[in-house]
Amino acid sequence: MERVTQCCIVCGEEREVGIAICEQFICQPCEQEMVKTDVNDAKYPFFIHQMRQIWLKKNA
Ligand SMILES: [Zn+2]
Repeated sequence: MERVTQCCIVCGEEREVGIAICEQFICQPCEQEMVKTDVNDAKYPFFIHQMRQIWLKKNA
């Protein structure tokens, strides 16, 4: 069976497992990281920034 990888928009890694939001791929580790990241976490603005890129691409 052919292995299909997609480039994660958050970490930039090629991964097999993940979710697609607005046709943009987010790998499972990043998705789980985002889910458990607190709003006050230093990483949170980074995730928001990456999510914004999705919307910008979608509405381009
Ligand atoms: Zn990722």
